[in-house]
Amino acid sequence: MATETMLRFVERQQAYPAKREAEIRAEDFREIADRYAVEGAEEQAARCSQCGVPYCSVHCPLHNHIPDWLRLTAEGRLREAYELSNATSSMPEICGRICPQDRLCEGNCVIEFSGHGAVTIGSVEKFITDTAWDKGWVEPLVPGRPTGQSVGIIGAGPAGLTAAEQLRAAGHDVHVYDRYDRAGGLLTYGIPGFKLEKPVVERRVARLEAGGILFHRGFAVGRDASLAELRARHDGILIATGVYKARAIDVDGHDRAGVVAALDYLTASNRKGFGDAVPAFDDGSLDAAGKDVVVIGGGDTAMDCVRTAVRQGAKSVKCLYRRDRANMPGSVREVANAEEEGVEFVWLTAPAAFEGDAAVTNVRAHGMRLGAPDASGRRAPERDPGGEHEHSADLVIKALGFDAEDLPRLFAAPELGVTRWGTVLVDAKTMMTSLDGVFAAGDIVRGASLVVWAIRDGRDVAAAMHRYLRAKAATGERKAA
Ligand SMILES: Cc1cc2nc3c(=O)[nH]c(=O)nc-3n(C[C@H](O)[C@H](O)[C@H](O)COP(=O)(O)OP(=O)(O)OC[C@H]3O[C@@H](n4cnc5c(N)ncnc54)[C@H](O)[C@@H]3O)c2cc1C
Ligand code: SF4
Repeated sequence: MATETMLRFVERQQAYPAKREAEIRAEDFREIADRYAVEGAEEQAARCSQCGVPYCSVHCPLHNHIPDWLRLTAEGRLREAYELSNATSSMPEICGRICPQDRLCEGNCVIEFSGHGAVTIGSVEKFITDTAWDKGWVEPLVPGRPTGQSVGIIGAGPAGLTAAEQLRAAGHDVHVYDRYDRAGGLLTYGIPGFKLEKPVVERRVARLEAGGILFHRGFAVGRDASLAELRARHDGILIATGVYKARAIDVDGHDRAGVVAALDYLTASNRKGFGDAVPAFDDGSLDAAGKDVVVIGGGDTAMDCVRTAVRQGAKSVKCLYRRDRANMPGSVREVANAEEEGVEFVWLTAPAAFEGDAAVTNVRAHGMRLGAPDASGRRAPERDPGGEHEHSADLVIKALGFDAEDLPRLFAAPELGVTRWGTVLVDAKTMMTSLDGVFAAGDIVRGASLVVWAIRDGRDVAAAMHRYLRAKAATGERKAA
């Protein structure tokens, strides 16, 4: 039965859901791709070769049962496909939208290796769970039998939200503290709507809230409570605060007016999408409309900045990156989307100075070339003495990546162990930090990473915390929040 339906990769071409025309999609912040029609999803799922050892699943951080839910989709058993997909992932429709599939599941599909083009796993995954939401198959979060124990989670990003769901389902009282006024972390304020529309995140948060998880929004740990105060309130604590310290760029004029940090820029744009008043956008400082925009960097954040600038109506948008196309960290697919939308990539280029009088008007840059591979195996960029050039710029956006904030200082907890990069140290087995009952997960442990890894960590840390809380309950120790 399965072989009759499946293995259609020779006769059926790979087909992603159609993208809207570049000029049209650049006018708004809606997602750029349509959803599959039912037949389209079934046809694409049926291309799967049902490998004995599915490399797609091996390379998915959640080890999703991909071939199985592809087969169920191909057979029209969508509800079962959803239930299986949901069993290993807390946000399948979000991963289906924003995982860099070309580096994870799809990049390791054997059909891709055979030259037929990978099964479009992410798009099918998105289709399955969006359908489940539409049809009312997504069950409410049902709290487990009350344990009388309480957990405090610092950070409402994907790591914190995932752990909150699992711990609530295990019967604990769950409090989530976040310094922002909306939950979701970078899903809400970092990643733009053209990759992930906000209602997709909001309905997940609403489900958690309806399941009895208590959100304390606008609550910054370090300002509104110290870590010690939260530890006194709860039986277990999870630090899932992500990484937010923008990497500096040490060139002349780095602090000139018009030179801004990527996350300030993206947050302002996302807030405008929610209809918030954002003074720094409204006065033009964080608005690219009518400007020559230069973005520095080559990762996902830089790609989101260039494409946001296009949508804001920039006069021109350039991305300066010190390596070449083949050696950039951002997704190949995102570069292609940006190019279609009119972004110019200036490869092998690094800024030398941000020039201007009161505000920036020009970026002076020098050429780079790739030298010998460094310790990570990537060819290290070095200055090419020949190649100075200039780029007009009224807005320069620095997207050089993020490091951890100084949490021991911020949380008034000098005894919290951190690495030399400032990320929080955890025991690999228990995911506990140097402080008893305080756990950590997501970007604050890994450094800037991916949503799917934050979800994986959230699930793992919830299991570890549950074990810890059960052991604690056995000794009769507990606190009421
Ligand atoms: C612009 C951008 C685009 C990205 N695009 C993608 C993509 O396409 N695909 C992908 O897989 N990944 C992407 N990523 C990476 C991904 O967003 C992160 O890896 C992921 O969100 C990390 O999840 P987290 O829960 O660890 O942290 P976060 O999502 O950062 O959430 C942390 C939360 O903690 C809160 N917090 C921090 N400090 C405190 C405090 N002191 N008190 C209270 N609350 C606090 C913050 O307000 C935030 O809500 C992108 C990242 C950026 C910046
Ligand atoms: S979670 Fe990400 S890597 Fe895993 S199957 Fe879905 S899109 Fe692929």
